[in-house]
Amino acid sequence: MRIILLGSPGAGKGSLAAEISKKYPVAHISTGDILRENVKNNTPLGVKARSFMESGGLVSDDIVIAMMEERLGRPDCEKGFILDGFPRTVSQAEALEEILEKAGMAISSTVLLDVDEDLVVRRLSGRRICRNCGAIYNVNTRPSSKGDRCEICGGELYQRDDDREDIVRQRLGVYYRETAPLISYFEKKRSFLRLKPNEKGDIVLEDFEKALGWRNDNA
Ligand code: ADP
Ligand code: ZN
Repeated sequence: MRIILLGSPGAGKGSLAAEISKKYPVAHISTGDILRENVKNNTPLGVKARSFMESGGLVSDDIVIAMMEERLGRPDCEKGFILDGFPRTVSQAEALEEILEKAGMAISSTVLLDVDEDLVVRRLSGRRICRNCGAIYNVNTRPSSKGDRCEICGGELYQRDDDREDIVRQRLGVYYRETAPLISYFEKKRSFLRLKPNEKGDIVLEDFEKALGWRNDNA
């Protein structure tokens, strides 16, 4: 299975992709995580990406496309992958198609996490991440039972610099301008699915599995 997760910042792509890759044999590829890792290690890629990321803008297409071409060529992608945060522009979507075509592959499904803007703002401003294991919490919607420590590993929880409210607004503006047009781009193609959050505001693994026909509760 080769899946694209689409959705605004804070829609829950990262959490859902992590759950899917725990249960199914797919590589979870988050462009945001790869870029942050490069920034942290001061690689040439990280140096180029840093200022765009800090301001809440997009890293330029050529940089991200080259990075993803390399990533998708690694052996762990042969079993399948789930893309979290890529493509984010129409040019990136076109480039992805080319990369996959050259490798004789195709996307199996594109899944939109369709979450209202007010919920997304609440989510992003409350998001906290474990410095040690990367687990994602939310002080508004999904607090850790251990306060400012990770439930799983006891690691310290921190807020991403770009989850500050002014940068969040900037990121959402970029999403509606650059990335939302991808919805109509992918809607025209095969196997486009739209998931909405439940009453608690979550899109859970079970809903994803049902939408893809991976789960049959009548069995
Ligand atoms: P979110 O989806 O919550 O905004 P990400 O972790 O996916 O956060 O991305 C963080 C930042 O990394 C983005 O604001 C952007 O600067 C950069 N980034 C991630 N993916 C891409 C991409 N596909 N194209 C350009 N920039 C990207
Ligand atoms: Zn942890």
